[in-house]
Amino acid sequence: MTDMHRRAWLAAMAGLAWGASPAAAQRRRPATRLPVVVLDPGHGGADPGAIGPGGTQEKRITLALAIELRRQLLAGGRCRVVLTRGRDVFVPLGRRVQVARDQEAALLVSLHADAAPPGQASGLRGASVYTLSEDASDALAAALARRENLADRAGGLRLPSVSPEVQRILLSLMRQETHAASTRVARLTVNALEGDFALLNQPHRRAGFVVLKAPDVPAVLVEGGFLSHPRDESLLNTPAHRARLARALAGAINRYLAGPRVAGVEALAAPV
Ligand SMILES: [Zn+2]
Repeated sequence: MTDMHRRAWLAAMAGLAWGASPAAAQRRRPATRLPVVVLDPGHGGADPGAIGPGGTQEKRITLALAIELRRQLLAGGRCRVVLTRGRDVFVPLGRRVQVARDQEAALLVSLHADAAPPGQASGLRGASVYTLSEDASDALAAALARRENLADRAGGLRLPSVSPEVQRILLSLMRQETHAASTRVARLTVNALEGDFALLNQPHRRAGFVVLKAPDVPAVLVEGGFLSHPRDESLLNTPAHRARLARALAGAINRYLAGPRVAGVEALAAPV
């Protein structure tokens, strides 16, 4: 059993149905199909995101980068790819998370470009990678679990019934596994970028981004550079630079997908 399957099992046991609908939750893909990587181009539609001194809109950079990254990942043949948006439309943050959960994604990668706060540190540049801070994940995982559990009752899903205490423990285990996997992706990503790209100091950072908060889908948010810095803005506007960036990200994602599997989980999964 892969760590992905283990997470799916923990999610089901904890009452966290995969997906919003009973149909989505009950759909099970054959284990042999390639894992899904969800790419999330930040912003879109009425929300342009950051705007560079040259007028570059973050929403356009993130979409172009996502489309190039999808192309490279598909060429690598190790995963399927789903985009949370493939054009210039507004997609609420919660919906982006739900796409990843509906897809039973192995990984969610949200793509953004930074901007220094007005009047501050205008020299800031370089890429960084965020994972969810542990504090943020606790409260949200609990809230999500509550909501999903209510949805389960309403939708009449047939999920294994376990006591609230066992459910809490399973949810905690799942969250720890998801967090560990997210951290692994972040480290692989920083390693892939190091040396070839300008990086922010302490490039692996933690914050409570909503899009990272699914308790059952490992997730990272990549800031490809600072749109507020003219050099980064110029680079992010260059297709060749975006292609190099996508190559590094695809390398990290493929290394993650090929990574170690959790051992000894078959016994744990036996009751299912
Ligand atoms: Zn952004």
